[in-house]
Amino acid sequence: GTVDVECEMLVLGAGPGGYSAAFRSADLGMNTVLVERYATLGGVCLNVGCIPSKALLHTAAIMDEAQHMGAHGITFAKPEVDINKLRDYKDGVIKKLTGGLAGMAKARKVNVVQGVGQFIDPNHMEVTAADGSKKIIRFAKAIIAAGSRVVKLPFIPDDPRIVDSTGALELRQVPNKMLIIGGGIIGLEMGTVYSSLGARLDVVEMMDGLMQGADRDLVKVWQKFNEHRFDNIYVNTKTVAVEAREDGIYVTFEKANDKSTAPAEPQRYDMVLVAVGRAPNGGLIAADKAGVAVTDRGFINVDAQMRTNVPHIFAIGDIVGQPMLAHKAVHEAHTAAEAAFGEKAYFDVRQIPSVAYTDPEVAWAGVTEDQAKAEGRKIGKGVFPWAASGRAIANGRDEGFTKLIFDEETGRVIGGGIVGTGAGDLISEVCLAIEMGADAVDVGKTIHPHPTLGESVGMAAEVFKGHCTDLP
Ligand code: FAD
Repeated sequence: GTVDVECEMLVLGAGPGGYSAAFRSADLGMNTVLVERYATLGGVCLNVGCIPSKALLHTAAIMDEAQHMGAHGITFAKPEVDINKLRDYKDGVIKKLTGGLAGMAKARKVNVVQGVGQFIDPNHMEVTAADGSKKIIRFAKAIIAAGSRVVKLPFIPDDPRIVDSTGALELRQVPNKMLIIGGGIIGLEMGTVYSSLGARLDVVEMMDGLMQGADRDLVKVWQKFNEHRFDNIYVNTKTVAVEAREDGIYVTFEKANDKSTAPAEPQRYDMVLVAVGRAPNGGLIAADKAGVAVTDRGFINVDAQMRTNVPHIFAIGDIVGQPMLAHKAVHEAHTAAEAAFGEKAYFDVRQIPSVAYTDPEVAWAGVTEDQAKAEGRKIGKGVFPWAASGRAIANGRDEGFTKLIFDEETGRVIGGGIVGTGAGDLISEVCLAIEMGADAVDVGKTIHPHPTLGESVGMAAEVFKGHCTDLP
């Protein structure tokens, strides 16, 4: 067919990976086209992921905090929830950010082509718009950033009371009794929101604990603080059947081993959230036509420059593998754009942080203690309990702690975990320490402002060195 658009760089998908790749490509002077099937830029993260979930979690945390103020001598009335207004607020946040992205694309002269993109050959893509019209784009180089989608369980019926994360973010109702299938970060974040809005929670998880990937000592603190939200936590438990009846959704569990406490009879819920993971979109873009290899599961393998097996085609973000996180996608995007431009750019990082934006937050980076132990790696650690932090006590939130993991030989920081309010913001210093190869002296001798929660990072390093400071 005839070519409608010519470009040096084509980016497929406008999530955090795709828009970052397109912006960097344009900034480097490449004539850039960004293909996105949806009307707004921002992908999963801005539209149905990171951002709307955090807007709601912020609201939830404030509601909960207000109810805790009784101990400070301040009581508030029971919160009244106008769910329509809350939804409007969340939608407004999304609109502001996606609008901002559209403006940034325009300012950089990135040509946004709306429609579903499919490769035709290694240098052409066909884009089909919502009205069925088609455009052919010829590109010299491409970056695939087509992301991931929700994993569905085969035995789940179609019913408005059964939702995935996208459905949960729509905030259609606040149920009395809600089941979360999957005890990972996404499920627990959404559970936190619904619980703060008034729902009672059950959670079911196949593995032997919630929030897999985080050290158990961190999770324990979160779990104790959140006990009040849950009627039942079924770990080591499989969900085997879900039935939609008029009076509720009936769910049947199966014990994966004897440690499971799951009941034999089906349980009734008003709403069920399925949050069992995300699958890459590699199988949906006709990658084979371009010669790009896709794994059976739909991932695209890349080298350290984010290059696929086809040298002028790169891939980034959720579609190239775990962890499926926005900040990973953004950094991979910059590497891919720069490498495509001809720079010696490599994705060579020592850590990718993870954060559960629950209350308290749980954050970790680099080597975890549980992982180091499993690998028989020689590590040292410094732990600073927030019960000894003046600021945490003043805040009435001293349940947390800060932990640094050190390489025993060099004393360098190789990992860290924090549980407590604002842990997701506090972990950044640990990330920098790991990337820079900072050791316990570097971190411990850095003057942190007092009184802050951030001091706990310096204190944890001091604890490892065997020093105790006088500051609470
Ligand atoms: P995506 O964001 O998935 O974007 C891919 C884009 O490609 C989409 O816009 C899609 O429409 C488009 N596309 C796909 N195929 C085609 C095609 N053939 N043609 C045209 N367009 C196409 N991560 C964090 O780091 N922090 C968080 O707090 C966080 N919270 C989350 C909460 C939830 C509820 C969810 C679901 C995810 C969350 N994530 C979070 C994960 C984060 O959203 C993803 O890691 C991130 O969006 C991945 O970016 P990406 O660019 O790889 O792909």
